[in-house]
Amino acid sequence: MNEPFDISGKTALVTGSSRGIGRAVAMALGRAGAAVIFHGASDSGALRDTVAAAQAEGMEARKIVGDLGDSVEVRRLAAESDRPDILVLNASVQSYGKIEDFDDDEFSRMVRTNLRSSFQLVRLLGPAMAEKGWGRIVSIGSVNQGHPAPRLAIYAATKAAQKNLMLTAAREWAARGVTVNTVTPGVIATDRNAKVLSDPSFAEPLRESIPAKRFGTSEDCAGIVLALCSDACSYVTGADISVDGGMSL
Ligand code: NAP
Repeated sequence: MNEPFDISGKTALVTGSSRGIGRAVAMALGRAGAAVIFHGASDSGALRDTVAAAQAEGMEARKIVGDLGDSVEVRRLAAESDRPDILVLNASVQSYGKIEDFDDDEFSRMVRTNLRSSFQLVRLLGPAMAEKGWGRIVSIGSVNQGHPAPRLAIYAATKAAQKNLMLTAAREWAARGVTVNTVTPGVIATDRNAKVLSDPSFAEPLRESIPAKRFGTSEDCAGIVLALCSDACSYVTGADISVDGGMSL
């Protein structure tokens, strides 16, 4: 095959791919030919079902479990993933509260899980990509990184910092075949926001405020990540691409 989005022969690690956006991204990478390492915080039924679904489609798929808030587990995840060509930083934790309601422990948990783990994975896996002369890192950001919603102070700050980290990584490896980009979703209907979106008094004004007049699906996020991970986008690095139905306009 010599298709522009063919990534046969590459291995992709997608964090938080048991469900939601990560699952859709990982499946898209697998369908484009990559061997896929699925990942979740725990060995859940969702993770097992996802890997089984990938294998049923003929993909080369395996799973690694690990809490990204624990640096030892992140190092093990990096080691067991065995020098992947593609890293998608998708998993995150998100909690709501006014600034005065958060305590130091919650700040630390979210920073460890969302930001430190990303730094660790980029630091541990990026150099091998640069040595090989080919690599792709895609971070899943959030509209909150630039326009924080109320009650998401720590989450928004971790996403802003993660985007900034991607910019430095993009600069450092640009001449060595490694691209580093951010894909920034708007409102995507997943388990994460199922409860808040089930309240019409919250969901309907929000939907109406989005130029596309709908919430996104996990699959809406997958195509751009696949493109960034392919040779079709080998000259795209340091970009931040919104997938938000025009929400950030
Ligand atoms: P989700 O449905 O809540 O899924 C979260 C994934 O992350 C699961 O695979 C989960 O694993 C994993 N995870 C959670 N905590 C973890 C931990 N401590 N260690 C390791 N893995 C952990 O999320 P989503 O809505 O698809 O969001 C995916 C990404 O998109 C996130 O970075 C989120 O910030 C971003 N995003 C989402 C939206 C949206 O509207 N949904 C909007 C903007 C940005 P388990 O299954 O084992 O729990």
